[in-house]
Amino acid sequence: MKIVFATGNGGKLREAREILGRGFELVTPADMGITEEIPETGNSLTANSRQKAEYIWNKCGCNCFSDDSGLEVDILGGAPGVHTARYAGDDKDFNKNIDLLLQNIAIREMEASMAASYGISLKKLGRRARFRCVVTLILDGEKHYFEGTLEGKIAHTRSGNGGFGYDPVFIPDEYPDKTLSEISEDEKNAISHRGKALRAMAEWLAASQEASQA
Ligand code: IMP
Repeated sequence: MKIVFATGNGGKLREAREILGRGFELVTPADMGITEEIPETGNSLTANSRQKAEYIWNKCGCNCFSDDSGLEVDILGGAPGVHTARYAGDDKDFNKNIDLLLQNIAIREMEASMAASYGISLKKLGRRARFRCVVTLILDGEKHYFEGTLEGKIAHTRSGNGGFGYDPVFIPDEYPDKTLSEISEDEKNAISHRGKALRAMAEWLAASQEASQA
């Protein structure tokens, strides 16, 4: 099936090609002559995911899907959430994003330990975090949504060279001694938020194709 993936993120594209496999031919917006940045101005992952897929549909009227993902850190009250890509600024610089994330967690941890020294006990949140992914599929003009979550925690420092984005500081529950950058791409795709959401989309497409042929 030929379908446009509404992303300019090379890491997401590489993973989606692996996850969806040979049954899908993924075309990028650039392949369709859409070179401008796709707007993401919503205030939730679902709104941004829908906005990106609708942008492609409105430009070319072709079947397409988008992925909007975010990192939620409990001790930061769920931040960066919908602001994950631009946490440290509009340049989407990952080194700066990770530096700010580690710095903000360290500040919160210091506040909690100062409060403890005054006998005030703050709720223990540790470094628990999760990635969430919302995929919007537009098929013949109809929208369908698929979601995936990956639970884990934030490391104190970066480790590993694989993956992209926040992978060097995210320790998934399934591999408690490794960050996502230290496991293979196949291992990451088998457990990731994106893997779960895209496999749900592929299964739904296969089932609806079967139903239409029955
Ligand atoms: P968006 O979905 O394009 O808005 O990007 C959300 C942000 O989360 C980007 O900064 C991504 O790099 C980051 N992100 C999304 N998925 C992953 C992942 O699997 N690993 C690490 N960072 C990710």
